[in-house]
Amino acid sequence: MSEHFETNSIRINSSKSNQKEHSSPIYLSSSFTFESAEEARATFAEELPGYIYSRYSNPNSSELIEKVCAAEGTENGIATASGMAAMFGSIASLLQQGDHILASRSLFGSTHQLLTRVFPKWGITSTYGDISDYLEWDKLIQPNTKMLFIETPSNPGLEIIDLEWAGKFAAAHNLILVVDNCFATPYLQQPAKWGAHIVTHSATKYIDGQGRVIGGLILGSNELIKEVQFFTRHTGPAISPFNAWILSKSMETLGVRMDRHCDNAEKVAAYFDGNAELDAVKYPFLKSHPQHHLAIKQMKRGGGIITLTLKGGLQRAQRFIDQLAMISLTPNLGDSRSIVTHPASTTHSKLS
Ligand SMILES: *Cc1c(COP(=O)(O)O)cnc(C)c1O
Repeated sequence: MSEHFETNSIRINSSKSNQKEHSSPIYLSSSFTFESAEEARATFAEELPGYIYSRYSNPNSSELIEKVCAAEGTENGIATASGMAAMFGSIASLLQQGDHILASRSLFGSTHQLLTRVFPKWGITSTYGDISDYLEWDKLIQPNTKMLFIETPSNPGLEIIDLEWAGKFAAAHNLILVVDNCFATPYLQQPAKWGAHIVTHSATKYIDGQGRVIGGLILGSNELIKEVQFFTRHTGPAISPFNAWILSKSMETLGVRMDRHCDNAEKVAAYFDGNAELDAVKYPFLKSHPQHHLAIKQMKRGGGIITLTLKGGLQRAQRFIDQLAMISLTPNLGDSRSIVTHPASTTHSKLS
């Protein structure tokens, strides 16, 4: 492993097959064979390393995990069929009935549904904290609080949570700190450096980068990932080898793509900043962003998302969107094609 982000993202490859290919092939194989009954026994018993069955692991998902771990500074991970499988799996595998989650209020819509409607069915409850007052969070801790779940920058509001504070707060209260790092990507921010125990991704977004496949990642220490691995092995959210292959190829270009996303976003944000037709322009690296000081502390650059608040509410926003000539109207992000979306009336309509 190199110290260079790009070198790792390009040069970490699954070991060559007998064909001596230069670029990693797609291992579309449900299962893997053994030389002997004894080798099969020992592999199942985890005495020998080796692939068994693609619900457990596969060379393509292993390559993707190894690359993203090098980028995030984490020991191990699991690749999942979607970002939500990663969010669900990270919570379901590490918590049990009676446990409580403390979460930041600004969360992805489906993550909010998990916390408020899915996990309570199994006795796992949660409370939301507000990032405007970190001192309040001490009062939200309950005797059964086991996890701190945050998203920074948040989707879509670009709220930024102080990762240094989160790491210290989690350590002081013995909580598992989970950070959804989808918006920043490991190129711009590595939450594990600040004490995150688990980093999750919707790989669908910037990691794919071209709007093709759905995928997710759960990354962390060997010890925690062992727990997650047990859960994913037996519940089955495995990523398809094809999708893992696409995402691993995409990692090769993540650095250059993120730099270009940031270059472009900086120009667009500067263009809109101060426009009289807008109530607000939000971009982490604009000085006017309420948590600009945190953004520059913990992020390399501001990312590829800008939020605009138009004067005139929903109708004005809809008129603005409908008059754009080239930008796609679609619920995704991190694509090579620029996208516009109105979260309040679509992806986030279930939130207050
Ligand atoms: C998209 C997204 C998810 C969900 O990921 P999928 O790949 O769509 O399942 C989770 N968190 C954030 C911040 C997202 O943007």
